Amino acid sequence: MTVYLVGAGPGDPGLMTCRGAELLRRADVVVHDRLGAAGLTGSAPATAELVDVGKRPGAPVDQADINRMLVDAGRSGRCVVRLKGGDPFVFGRGGEEAAALEEAGVPYEVVPGVSAAVAAPAYAGVPVTHRGVATGFTVVTGHMARDGSSGVAWEALAKAGHTLVILMGASERAAIAKRLIAGGWRHDSAVVVVCNGTSPRQKVMRTTLGQLGSCAVEPPATIVVGAVAALDFSWFQKRPLSGLRLVVTRAPKTAPRMSAALAELGAEVVTLPTIDIVDPDDKGVALRRACSELARYSWVVLSSVNGAERFLDAVGDLRRLSNVKLAAIGPTTASVLQGARLRPDLVPTEYVAESLVAAFPAAPPAGGRVLLARAAVARDALPDGLAAKGWRVEVVDAYRTVPAVPDPSAVQSAMAADVALFTSPSTVQHFCSVLPHTFGGLAACIGPVTAAEAALQGMEVVVEAPVHTAEGLIEAVASSAPLLRSRQGGGQATRRSGRTA
Ligand code: SAH
Repeated sequence: MTVYLVGAGPGDPGLMTCRGAELLRRADVVVHDRLGAAGLTGSAPATAELVDVGKRPGAPVDQADINRMLVDAGRSGRCVVRLKGGDPFVFGRGGEEAAALEEAGVPYEVVPGVSAAVAAPAYAGVPVTHRGVATGFTVVTGHMARDGSSGVAWEALAKAGHTLVILMGASERAAIAKRLIAGGWRHDSAVVVVCNGTSPRQKVMRTTLGQLGSCAVEPPATIVVGAVAALDFSWFQKRPLSGLRLVVTRAPKTAPRMSAALAELGAEVVTLPTIDIVDPDDKGVALRRACSELARYSWVVLSSVNGAERFLDAVGDLRRLSNVKLAAIGPTTASVLQGARLRPDLVPTEYVAESLVAAFPAAPPAGGRVLLARAAVARDALPDGLAAKGWRVEVVDAYRTVPAVPDPSAVQSAMAADVALFTSPSTVQHFCSVLPHTFGGLAACIGPVTAAEAALQGMEVVVEAPVHTAEGLIEAVASSAPLLRSRQGGGQATRRSGRTA
């Protein structure tokens, strides 16, 4: 079977090609590097074997071993994707792997990738060529610049006057600068250093050749030298949430969408579902029974998306709803009904239980029943408030919120986050039990009830969304970005004062 040498791009998963993504989705084996490819292996089938051959300082993986592994995997008849950072043939040793496969008679294909050589400068706002400024660019390795054994003619490159894009040059940067200056480049020639390019941790340093040696560089770094380095079309780090690390704590089903929306705004997002939504204790028996007798109720009240979804499932045939009125606590819950072509009769203007109660009509003199389908453990504000208006309220458990099993690496990343986003009191409670006293960041909450729980747990609430929906929370976090940046690292070091969950 074919071995695919696939370029994964330099870090941003969006820079993977369509062809690469398609192959990854049907891979049986993914042999991957450390650089850039980390987040992408998730799109391989769950059954795919993932082999990490990333070269780590101090623990080198022999290239000959990788070549042998690719040949063996190719011969085993499985679909093999060799996922490499950037482009496989740009300092990726892809040529050596192709040669080994060629020699062994194993068929292979090459899927080019977006190289850090162009992507890192582009994400830093530097075009590698620019009309009237640079008519070409040279991509060169900075490795072994000091002893000259790489054979790069630095002085000659300086004379050519093209843009120089240097990969693997972080540790040799002082020697490189010296040799370029010796070749005739001025001390004050513009230099841009892009560290962790295209990732949310991207750092861009603007310096000069004379200063390059003393500039703090964190690998992986791409160094751009030449007149284009003075240009600055920066956009990536100007996105609203760039530079902030946020934790999304909601359930696995809804977390990815929120994480994607925050990442789109530039945030580095840790997806750490702290709760999960499961069947109620009775497996939904009470809900199904209530739904088979809907004629008994005047109203059905739905206080969450999960409640609405499970209610509709239990109803089955929508004609059963013809004589009952529907109330939804907010627009997202309402949209579940609208998705089934049902128009809610009541959605309060503020999306909290108290507003729903206020907007709810009083019961007629003869009385009437309300079915409230909701989480197994919830506040009493809704049933009590409706009862006070004369209704007979029947509460059925539509689902149960349970603690999610946290992913240890996500927990680790969450500890160093700036802000955790909470969409319900239960997300706060379970987050605090997963990270007891170790989260030094701030809390952003969907509304007052969740904010009160966060405060009770000893967290500092810096954002309380005025519109109590996931979108409202995202918007509130985005518009608080300057404040959040100014508070970076300044949250309470520990939450000792909080109640333990
Ligand atoms: N095949 C890769 C390059 C591999 S060499 C490609 O085409 O991109 C590894 C070097 O690439 C690093 O030392 C660094 O100079 C550069 N590099 C890789 N990822 C990078 C990133 N995200 N930001 C900046 N430079 C990066």
